[in-house]
Amino acid sequence: MKGGTGKIILLLLIAGTVITFLLSGGTERLSLAGLKRDYDALVDVVAAWPVASAVAFGLAYVVVTALSLPGAAAMTLAAGALFGLVEGTIIASIASTIGATLAMLSARFIARDWVRARFPKAVEAVDRGLARDGNFYLLSLRLIPVFPFFLVNLAMGLTAMRVGTFAAVSQIGMLPGTIVYVNAGTQLAAIESSADITSPALIGSFVLLGLFPLIAKFVLGWWRRRRIYQGWKRPKRFDRNLIVIGAGAGGLVTAYIAATVRAKVTLIEAHRMGGDCLNTGCVPSKALIRSARLAHEIRTADWFGLKPREPELDLKAVMKRIRTIIEVIEPADSVERYTSLGVDVRLGYARLVDPWTVEIDGAERLTTRAIVIAAGGEPAVPDIPGLAESGYLTSDTMWDALSHRDALPGRIVVIGGGPIGTEMAQAFARLGSQVTQVEHGPRLLPREDEEVSAFIAERLAEEGVSVLTGHEAVRIEGKTLIAAKGGEEVPLPFDELIVAVGRTARLTGYGLEALGIPTEKTVQTNDYCETIYPNIYAAGDVAGPYQFTHFAAHQAWYAAVNALFGSFRRFRADYSIIPRVTYTDPEVAHVGHNESRAKEAGIAHEVVRFDIGHLDRAVTEGANRGFVKLLVQPGKDRILGATIVAHNASEMIAEYVLAMKHGLGLDTILGTIHAYPTMAEANKYAAGEWKKAHKPERLLRWLERYHRWRRG
Ligand SMILES: Cc1cc2nc3c(=O)[nH]c(=O)nc-3n(C[C@H](O)[C@H](O)[C@H](O)COP(=O)(O)OP(=O)(O)OC[C@H]3O[C@@H](n4cnc5c(N)ncnc54)[C@H](O)[C@@H]3O)c2cc1C
Repeated sequence: MKGGTGKIILLLLIAGTVITFLLSGGTERLSLAGLKRDYDALVDVVAAWPVASAVAFGLAYVVVTALSLPGAAAMTLAAGALFGLVEGTIIASIASTIGATLAMLSARFIARDWVRARFPKAVEAVDRGLARDGNFYLLSLRLIPVFPFFLVNLAMGLTAMRVGTFAAVSQIGMLPGTIVYVNAGTQLAAIESSADITSPALIGSFVLLGLFPLIAKFVLGWWRRRRIYQGWKRPKRFDRNLIVIGAGAGGLVTAYIAATVRAKVTLIEAHRMGGDCLNTGCVPSKALIRSARLAHEIRTADWFGLKPREPELDLKAVMKRIRTIIEVIEPADSVERYTSLGVDVRLGYARLVDPWTVEIDGAERLTTRAIVIAAGGEPAVPDIPGLAESGYLTSDTMWDALSHRDALPGRIVVIGGGPIGTEMAQAFARLGSQVTQVEHGPRLLPREDEEVSAFIAERLAEEGVSVLTGHEAVRIEGKTLIAAKGGEEVPLPFDELIVAVGRTARLTGYGLEALGIPTEKTVQTNDYCETIYPNIYAAGDVAGPYQFTHFAAHQAWYAAVNALFGSFRRFRADYSIIPRVTYTDPEVAHVGHNESRAKEAGIAHEVVRFDIGHLDRAVTEGANRGFVKLLVQPGKDRILGATIVAHNASEMIAEYVLAMKHGLGLDTILGTIHAYPTMAEANKYAAGEWKKAHKPERLLRWLERYHRWRRG
């Protein structure tokens, strides 16, 4: 018999049995009410044939759990009621393990390959838990009945866990719960009159039943902590409540919150206060983009009634302006400001020595109750032969290098078609360089919908950027990048080569390895921003999943609050509505789902569009190219996602972020007065497009008749 046929036969067999069970009133029989009703008859049977009844009961229990039929809880109570605490526990415990193992094996046989192929992400979550905590993961799932047991059986069938291990861990993990239930069952049998309901023994059993998940959770937490901290010596007292590693957006916000709530907090920065965003990221790049826009406007000034000309660039002055802008913003992130806020700021390199001790520059050691790692990220550097010798630049080194040049490089090659590469390609082209952008994927800005990528690629091409998508950077020979497409090599000579292929989290050199904190592409954290150590948290680029300043700041709140107050209450980080912007011209702003991701995820949606060309303010600004694209829940006005491609899209998106965050629909946006003429009006017009598409045609036909009748 082939595997496929076997699977179908087994599936049909299971489905048939389940249907028969449901149709024959099995659910009612295996309920508390059914148990009480049949109790006397069952007791007689057990008294007459004790061994046979125990075996039959055990087999029935196996069938119920193996087929994931409803009623396992009632059967465990019945085990207590009919066989007593010890015998009942033995029967239920062995039968539940056999049943669970059979259920797991059936799921593995029937569905593992299929589910793994179709829902890799869902299976990934279970795999991650298993990889992280091994058998302990299954044990916790068994002990804390957050997920129904039958789901645990089926989910484990999708993994590669060994059958013997599954059975053994299940046996141990289910035992405490089984005892509690069987014990409650023995008391159930004792109810003869309503007075018995209030007997201390019965009440005690049910209190135990209710408290069990809480106790199990507490014990598991304690055990997990003990396991993880084993081998480390915890200081008797701590110098600090919190130490924060890194003073970028994530670290600064963490320290700010800690100081605000009067915790003793030390912030350690190895390089420059403000981190990437202030020194080499958002701020200098946006300042450069502004100069570039002006250059573009001078070049296209005829549209505004002025004489266009080729702008004369003074690179030294542009770079000086960028430095000045950084200096203007810098005080907000400075040592002085944070010291005045009550933060103990240290400039030096931090290294984790143990879960409570951080060393600064190999000299001083500070102890702390909690730690937040906000060490950020750095530019990824691809493995391209010749790259190391080419003198390439990244966003880290670019600003310094340009400051030392008298003139802009004539030919720039940018490797990378993501947001940073695309922003820089357009900016340098506008400032006067001949720019070639090389992207190995089929399009720029791959996170956006295809039409957005195409739109931006067209704008760049119009402005003279040579956009080479589908081109692999193969090697560098002197000052020439050799790219290849379809086996054909394309030589791309350059004066400066900028590598912008993404950013990687900083994961080495400061003690994560010594503490065994798991890292994949980022520091691995749970929903509370917590690492495997319950007192060590991570936020920002080092933790991901997003790499934005506003995301780092958002995550920092959870890291700070959970690190300081997690013993009382922990907050699960909410990443559901995170906007992002690419500062090209026009800008691309996005929040929520886009069309391609919604399709991939099978999320029902309808698309609403509004063309920016119809917006008066955009026309007066000479910025009339772009669109608003909304994803809306069918049959409702709920916004699932918004993408805006427009001048000032970064500002316009705020309205959708607010609406989505607070559950406001398109009707609300439509009913809100937007000042005329503004770019933000596009949001209202997009809502209007949605309304038009959903107008009540039948009612309108009646109204037409009514008006006709009124005219006589
Ligand atoms: C060119 C460019 C443009 C960008 N534009 C935008 C934008 O427009 N909008 C946006 O939202 N985001 C933008 N970003 C991303 C943004 O800069 C980052 O997401 C943000 O800086 C992350 O903040 P962070 O605190 O996680 O890390 P960082 O800002 O990287 O800060 C980490 C800090 O930790 C320090 N550190 C590391 N290890 C140690 C150690 N062992 N001891 C002490 N200190 C240590 C580092 O020196 C650094 O200062 C841009 C990035 C780049 C490169």
